[in-house]
Amino acid sequence: MTTATAPTPATTSTGCDLDHIYCPCDPDTALCGTDITGATFVDDVDTACVVCLDLEETDAPCALCGSRA
Ligand SMILES: [Zn+2]
Ligand SMILES: [Zn+2]
Repeated sequence: MTTATAPTPATTSTGCDLDHIYCPCDPDTALCGTDITGATFVDDVDTACVVCLDLEETDAPCALCGSRA
């Protein structure tokens, strides 16, 4: 039940297509817990998931396997 305040992209019609970061142990689940099965990744930092970025920057270990992305 997270209500993280993510920045609103300037222009978008596909708000859910954020660039998440995931651990190789579970490519279908992003670090933030979002189900990214079949998600399309875009190489654009402006649309990166802030939760995933924060988890990566803090070097938080994977909740599943304990490794660091
Ligand atoms: Zn994410
Ligand atoms: Zn993992």
